[in-house]
Amino acid sequence: MTPAISLNVRDVEREELEVDVLLVGAGPAALSCAIQLKRRLKELGLDKSILVLEKAEEVGYHTLSGAVMDPRGMAELFPDWKERGCPTEAEVGFDCVDLLRKNGKKLRFQGAFVPPPLRNHGNHIVSLYKVVRWMKDEAEKLGVDVYPGFAAAEVLYDEAGKRVLGVQTRDAGVGKGGVQKGTYQPGMNIKAAVTVFAEGTRGHLAKQHIARLGLDAERNPQIYETGIKEVWEIPEARGKELLGSVIHTLGEPLGTGGYGGGWIYGLAGSRLSIGYVVGLDHPDPGLDPHALFVRWKQHPALQELLAGGKALRYGAKTIPGGGYWSMPKLYGDGYVLVGDTAGFVNMSRLKGIHLAIKSGLLAADALADALAKGDTSATALAGYATRFEASWAKQELWGVRNFRAAFSNGWWTGFLDAGIQQVTKGRGLLVRRRTGADHEHRARLSELGGRSRMTKPTFNDRDALDKLTDVYLSGAVHEEDQPAHLVISDPDLCATRCTAEFGNPCQHFCPAAVYEWTPGAQKPQINFSNCVHCKTCDIADPYQVIEWVVPEGGGGPKYIDM
Ligand code: SF4
Repeated sequence: MTPAISLNVRDVEREELEVDVLLVGAGPAALSCAIQLKRRLKELGLDKSILVLEKAEEVGYHTLSGAVMDPRGMAELFPDWKERGCPTEAEVGFDCVDLLRKNGKKLRFQGAFVPPPLRNHGNHIVSLYKVVRWMKDEAEKLGVDVYPGFAAAEVLYDEAGKRVLGVQTRDAGVGKGGVQKGTYQPGMNIKAAVTVFAEGTRGHLAKQHIARLGLDAERNPQIYETGIKEVWEIPEARGKELLGSVIHTLGEPLGTGGYGGGWIYGLAGSRLSIGYVVGLDHPDPGLDPHALFVRWKQHPALQELLAGGKALRYGAKTIPGGGYWSMPKLYGDGYVLVGDTAGFVNMSRLKGIHLAIKSGLLAADALADALAKGDTSATALAGYATRFEASWAKQELWGVRNFRAAFSNGWWTGFLDAGIQQVTKGRGLLVRRRTGADHEHRARLSELGGRSRMTKPTFNDRDALDKLTDVYLSGAVHEEDQPAHLVISDPDLCATRCTAEFGNPCQHFCPAAVYEWTPGAQKPQINFSNCVHCKTCDIADPYQVIEWVVPEGGGGPKYIDM
């Protein structure tokens, strides 16, 4: 069981706020849930308070995705989503898959040669930042309260420790070393009949809650990828040509050494969304997703697209790609889990927005029925899981249930199995693929001949930005005088076993240069202010001694327009 880390001062008087439904996180799943719930409650003649808490300073600042949206979920939430003004960049007009080769050339697959999961006609390229801000406005019009800048620090339980009563927000004004500053303000206890965990990928509260109640028993551990993204401005003529294009890449620089690949999406305003995704089940402890992204940009195929342009923004985020077998139990006494927090991602299509919205809709319908009965026990909230099992979301996820786990056993196994899954309705070679957690796949240096096989790129200030320059483009800022929100429970391990066995992978895998190692140091220097809240460290650390916890509310990246 994951030990709960206490972030807040004990024995202090706290304000208490009571609402009917509390949603933790303001992403697409939470906002669709809040909107649908308000509408359902109105139909039932019930006036219930709904509060959405968001740790970012503004809604959307911590929301990051590629993103190509399958409109199915949005169209269920708002059949008139286009007329209503849901912001999109472009409808997909062209899609292809490029195999990037070592010799600098590319092999393009298009039309009938694009694998079915990567066909995107009918989908829309979006900035998820813009979409969630629009959804927030729609929710507020219906009477939903949205509080940005409030970080939920702890789950409140009943005396038996099973029923969720709400959350406690993080104290503000606590200095380094835990000293209360003059600005100290205790966090609030916010209590609710139902709490919706919608924290996104590797939610800090959901991680502890799932472990505490064993919600992942008999499931596969979640499998994560880290995605690195930049938005570029490019010359106008090329921007026009690429508007509405969706290009996915395989091959270099990862090759067949691990799961991953790149994307290029043509945005409005002569901009490109470009990014690289790599599975954290990669065996090499020197895995550096940011370095792979930079090396990918240095391939001639990318150089051609980026020539004459410049990077405007940067972000990084993990993606819970394990699929159906990695989803935890979705409900219990006084709570439900939705969106990325519950693993609603179809990794074979590189899509989750439509599933996140659908999970919010399904949860809202179950919550409305439960609130109408005045019963928010696990029995009453089981309606969410029943609805999911009968939904197209389940059908879609079931159809690719073994996809991602097959790649955990090596690229060629995954490639072969993914092909067989296409003709066996998602089954593939095995009825159920099982896999270990990502960090369990990490090889010791001794197994790799004493050194990592990952190579670092040569940086420049044009198209190969280093991590610190990219952090600047992410807008990441935290109050400096606060305890670090990256907690290493056993720092002695760092300079002893971790150095010898894995070469301190934290200095490589963090895409924001948070962990710095100087030769001979006893522990890493933690530059927590750089943190872009991607959660890679919490997942990829081989000893699982790094815990990402929420910093003081409002800190983190500012993914404006991302
Ligand atoms: Fe991501 Fe952890 Fe680095 Fe923050 S410290 S950017 S969560 S890897």
